[in-house]
Amino acid sequence: MEENYFLIDCGEGTQVELRRQKIKFSRIDNIFISHLHGDHWFGLAGLISSFHLLSRTKDLHIYSPPGLKDAIISQLRLGQTHLSYFIHFHELEGKEPKVILENAKLIVKSVPLNHRIETYGFLFEEKKKLRKLNAPLLRERGVEVCDFRMLQLGNDVQSIDGKLIKNSEVTFDPPEPLKYAYCSDTAYYEPLVDWLAGVDVLYHESTFLEQNRDLATKTFHSTAKDAATIASKAKVNYLILGHFSSRYRNRDVYKEEAKRYFQNIEISEAGKIFSFENK
Ligand SMILES: [Zn+2]
Repeated sequence: MEENYFLIDCGEGTQVELRRQKIKFSRIDNIFISHLHGDHWFGLAGLISSFHLLSRTKDLHIYSPPGLKDAIISQLRLGQTHLSYFIHFHELEGKEPKVILENAKLIVKSVPLNHRIETYGFLFEEKKKLRKLNAPLLRERGVEVCDFRMLQLGNDVQSIDGKLIKNSEVTFDPPEPLKYAYCSDTAYYEPLVDWLAGVDVLYHESTFLEQNRDLATKTFHSTAKDAATIASKAKVNYLILGHFSSRYRNRDVYKEEAKRYFQNIEISEAGKIFSFENK
């Protein structure tokens, strides 16, 4: 969302991948860790150290289930590292979605998931955008620049010669705000249907296929069918599948299974960029 970068989970290879993608570290101010299984945070201490080596001074915010702060602090203490910047650790909790971050453009909520240990997904909701101005018409009708803000907010204004300018005549509807949800790791979890209803893009883990339903159940992971069922019931626009097991011959098998239950499916892979925008 424009100048904000949000990092969700930070496995061992994250820093290498961020460098490969030429992501500016300085633009990451918020890191969201879904849970404390190693593949979701073992890269964090390294990234925190790199921020320090790059002489970061801006505060960093880390959101995670309880326990991460102690782990990171003891890693830093062992190396006698005194960071050049401050870290705010925000502990997630609750059995319902909760607002954990809000700025001028968006709201981020934690969303409880159903995994072997305490785990949260994250829901990013853009705020309503300003109305778009019909600039040539505004000039023609004699509207002053100082009134543009009022028009963007949806109000009527007066022209220089005192005529009423109706908002609907000189502005366009803004694009619908986008919603993105990230859910990893989790077993099939029915409350997500309501909590994620109507999101534009859902990333949902699909570690297994139905042929390994027993493993999915045992490890509290989802199958491609589970992910697609949530997507279908929640009426999302797009589903991105990820967190794949290496036991299957390729990733198309996930798409094949999921397609029986939901149409708009994408397969995630390292370095792949998905762009979504509302008109
Ligand atoms: Zn896990």
